[in-house]
Amino acid sequence: EEPVVKQTDSTAKVAQLGVVLGPDGKPCKPCTAFRNWRRLQKSEGEEKGKSSTLMAFGPSSSSNEPDRPPAHCPPDVEQLGNATWTFLHSTAAYYPNRPTPNHRANMLLLIRAIPTLYPCSHCADDFGQDVKVNPPDVSSRAGLSKWLCERHNEVNLKLGKKPFDCTLEKLDERWKNGPRD
Ligand code: FAD
Repeated sequence: EEPVVKQTDSTAKVAQLGVVLGPDGKPCKPCTAFRNWRRLQKSEGEEKGKSSTLMAFGPSSSSNEPDRPPAHCPPDVEQLGNATWTFLHSTAAYYPNRPTPNHRANMLLLIRAIPTLYPCSHCADDFGQDVKVNPPDVSSRAGLSKWLCERHNEVNLKLGKKPFDCTLEKLDERWKNGPRD
């Protein structure tokens, strides 16, 4: 069920809580970290006694809650991102060394669909800008894995996270072979 935004929720207050608005101007669940969405839930609950509107992540919970949405709840920006990177890096790790034209065309379609379809709208916009400046390398498994690693590092940089080593050896260790015993 879609969260209903109450008239009393000013944009400023929502932003102050760290809740990201989507293109429709409403709080965007897959754009927002769960901990911030929960703050909004709590603040809503405090205003009304009990929140009945912003329950899309499940009922509001007690103080020692996890930082991520429970398994039966929709993903937040982090869970969605982690799952998406897992899919993309794994797909790159198993992409052929010598892709057919069909492989290349489908990989391009997959990458180019993200800016249009990815549910975190600001993530999608930034990724689209990055892909425009850095066109996908779908020529080989090694080329695609490196290109994707660099795109992920752009996001890591934006979020203040450490960059990943984009050598094929490190990428294969993480996404294909696992660490040596
Ligand atoms: P993740 O960054 O999800 O990484 C998962 C695993 O991948 C890591 O544990 C690590 O082992 C490995 N890894 C890390 N970096 C690399 C790399 N460069 N190459 C290969 N493997 C790597 N979140 C935002 O808050 N704002 C955004 O604008 C935003 N944009 C995004 C755009 C896209 C296209 C995607 C897919 C996600 C975006 N995210 C964004 C989500 C963000 O990138 C993370 O997924 C999220 O913060 C969860 O981080 P995490 O710590 O679980 O690790």
